[in-house]
Amino acid sequence: MLQYATAAEAEAALGRAMTWSEAAWFRYSATTPDFCLYCHSVVFVLLVYTLAPLPLVLLELRAPAKLTAPYKLQPRVRLSPAAFLRCFKNTLSTIVLSTAPLPFISYPVFRVMVGIRTGLPLPSPGETAAQLLVYLLVEDYLGYWIHRLLHTEWCYDRIHRVHHEFEAPMGYAAPYAHWAEVFVLGSASFAGLAIVPCHMVTFWLWFIVRPMEAIDVHSGFDLPFSPTKFIPFYGGAEFHDYHHYVGKRSKSNFASVFTFCDYIYGTHKGYRYHKAARMAKLQEMAQNNVVGKG
Ligand SMILES: [Zn+2]
Ligand SMILES: [Zn+2]
Repeated sequence: MLQYATAAEAEAALGRAMTWSEAAWFRYSATTPDFCLYCHSVVFVLLVYTLAPLPLVLLELRAPAKLTAPYKLQPRVRLSPAAFLRCFKNTLSTIVLSTAPLPFISYPVFRVMVGIRTGLPLPSPGETAAQLLVYLLVEDYLGYWIHRLLHTEWCYDRIHRVHHEFEAPMGYAAPYAHWAEVFVLGSASFAGLAIVPCHMVTFWLWFIVRPMEAIDVHSGFDLPFSPTKFIPFYGGAEFHDYHHYVGKRSKSNFASVFTFCDYIYGTHKGYRYHKAARMAKLQEMAQNNVVGKG
C-alpha cells in the first residue's frame, strides 16, 4: 500500500512525472495491502508451474516421436498422458501445502525486518537484473549443498527418492518432490532476498524466474535455439537430466542452476565421462553413416 493518496502527491514526492510502469504500479498497489501484494508470489509460482511446462508436454504427447527424438534427452522414454496428469496433480497439491505457509512465516521477516519496499520509484532494469543474478547465485550455492545432503542414504530413502521417481524428467516434475524438500528448497529461495533486499516487483519477478529455470532444467528437451545456451556456466536440461538418469547412485550434477559448484567441488566427473562417451558414440555413428553411404 503506497503512502500517497493521489497520483499528484506521488509525482510531487518523486519530483517528476511518473513513467507508465510507475503509474500502473501506483494504480495497482495504492489500495492493496502489502501482505496481499506479498502473497502474489504464491500465485505466480502456481501459475508458472501450471502453464510453463505445457508447450513441451503437448509437443511430447502430440508430435510424432520421429520429430521430437533428436531433441529429447532420453528419447526411448515416452511418458503417457496419465503419467503427466498424475505428476501435475501431485505437484500442485505439494506446492499448495508446502508454499502456502511460507508467506505467513516469511512476511514479518522480509517485509518488516529486511525491508522489501513497495514505494516509488520502481527499480531500474539494471538493478533488477543484478539482484536476480545475486538471488540465483546464492540459491544455487545453498541448493547445491542441500541437494548433496539429500543424497545421503537416510535423506534419499525418506525424502529425495520422490523427486527421483522420474528418471527422465519433464517440466511438471520440477517441483515433484516430498513436501519437506519443497519446503526446505523453497526457504532457500529467500536467502538472497535477505542479503540484498529489493522492491516488491523484483520479488515477484524472482518467483517467476526461479520456477521457470527449474522447469527448463527438468524439461527433458535440449533445444538448440534455447536462449539459456548463451548464459555462461548455465547447466541447462542436459546437465540436470543426467542427474535424474543416474538417480540414487548419482555423485554428479547437484547444482540446479550453474555448473561451477560441481566443478569446484569435483562432483562433475561422472557427467564429464558420460558426455565424452556420448560424443564418441555420436562421432562413431556419423562416421559409420559416411562409410555406409560411400
Ligand atoms: Zn538428486
Ligand atoms: Zn530434479
